[in-house]
Amino acid sequence: MPDSSNLGLIHIYCGNGKGKTTCGMGLCVRAAGFGFRVLIYQFMKNNSTSERTAMAHIENITFLPGLEQEKFSFRMSEEEKEEHRRFYAAQLQHIAEMVKDGAFDVLFLDEAVYCVRNGLLEEAALLDFLKNKPEHLEVILTGQDPSPALIECADYVSEIRKVKHPFDKGVRARKGIER
Ligand code: ATP
Ligand code: MG
Repeated sequence: MPDSSNLGLIHIYCGNGKGKTTCGMGLCVRAAGFGFRVLIYQFMKNNSTSERTAMAHIENITFLPGLEQEKFSFRMSEEEKEEHRRFYAAQLQHIAEMVKDGAFDVLFLDEAVYCVRNGLLEEAALLDFLKNKPEHLEVILTGQDPSPALIECADYVSEIRKVKHPFDKGVRARKGIER
């Protein structure tokens, strides 16, 4: 067995079922409970997610601020997409700086896979970050449809498959349950 004492692995939660973001958040809570220092950035989300409200109080968990104006990418104008691309590229660089000297043990990039898929985050930049990350850093990514290159780079890839979801009946995302 490889020595696991300094082993930081990469997780992807993907698929079309509910539970990717909440699964990543659950892992962050567990890690913080152990004493790991956790850094979380939620792409595509503003600063009012319920998980942020609850978890920002937990010792060892740091949330980076997001853009106040967020929406699904298919609702963005070309100008808004460009603004997001710039912001997200800078944010990834900023995060790389924050983690490079070992100040964090776990990094959760919520919806990073979604952003790559929708052209809001350069896949090459994310792959470059993952391949050069501090050795011990555990990284969690979420988003429906990871590319083969991201899957190849990850150590855990868990696909959550929708069997039923109320949005098929027109039920919109509910506060406290979906956001
Ligand atoms: P959770 O945050 O509950 O763990 P998730 O991360 O697996 O869910 P995402 O794919 O990130 O889910 O979607 C975020 C939210 O957007 C969903 O909870 C859902 O309310 C809404 N959503 C996702 N896909 C669709 C869709 N095809 N139609 C309508 N709403 C959707
Ligand atoms: Mg999600």
